[in-house]
Amino acid sequence: MALSPVRVTVWNEFRHERENKEVARIYPDGMHVAIARYLEAVDGFTTRTATLDQPEHGLTKQVLAQTDTLVWWGHIAHDSVSDAVAERVQQAVLAGMGLIVLHSGHGSKPFKRLLGTNCSLRWREANERERLWNLAPGHEITRGIGDYIELPAAEMYGERFDIPEPDKLIFLSWFQGGEVFRSGCVWERGNGRIFYFKPGHETYPVFAHQDVLRVIANAARWARRKIDRHTLDHPNIRKPLEKIG
Ligand code: ZN
Repeated sequence: MALSPVRVTVWNEFRHERENKEVARIYPDGMHVAIARYLEAVDGFTTRTATLDQPEHGLTKQVLAQTDTLVWWGHIAHDSVSDAVAERVQQAVLAGMGLIVLHSGHGSKPFKRLLGTNCSLRWREANERERLWNLAPGHEITRGIGDYIELPAAEMYGERFDIPEPDKLIFLSWFQGGEVFRSGCVWERGNGRIFYFKPGHETYPVFAHQDVLRVIANAARWARRKIDRHTLDHPNIRKPLEKIG
């Protein structure tokens, strides 16, 4: 039986691309479009994009209801995301929507709300090599990926990454400068699946790297919504199935 297509919404704050010439040269249409184009070309996905400056940041109730996996890229404008939309994303995940948080999205409101910690980390921009070691070669997220993904030039993200213990660690990064970082982590929250993936600094063409894109596609499929159950929507009082007493 063929599965229905995975409906992916790629969200981007879309500020660097419009304010920084170097970033605009790498991503003329924005990072969200680069990611969405790749997913469109892979069998089994239908995609849409949404950005911060759209009404309700492009994430209306209806859009989220029609999203199986939401991909999130944010950096300089985390505080401009309204609490109402952050809460809506959080509730959508708890109800069953998948969430992939990329790179600097570690500081975003939805991610911090869902994980409950500060999600802070150490960083450095020094054009250094990064190797993301594949710790889970049998996992759906690493399908088609070898022992490691190598990025010739990356921003360093280092430990300690202030996250709750992941349900599973998928990638561990090594950096030329000596640090390590838990660069691919999964959690479940409510009925939803979350994947954090470290690559994605805006001044490097990371979203043209085939292995990085493949991991995002694999994760979008892995995290896809399986059910849609809002625990807040129903009166939760329940009649007994058997006669009691
Ligand atoms: Zn960055």
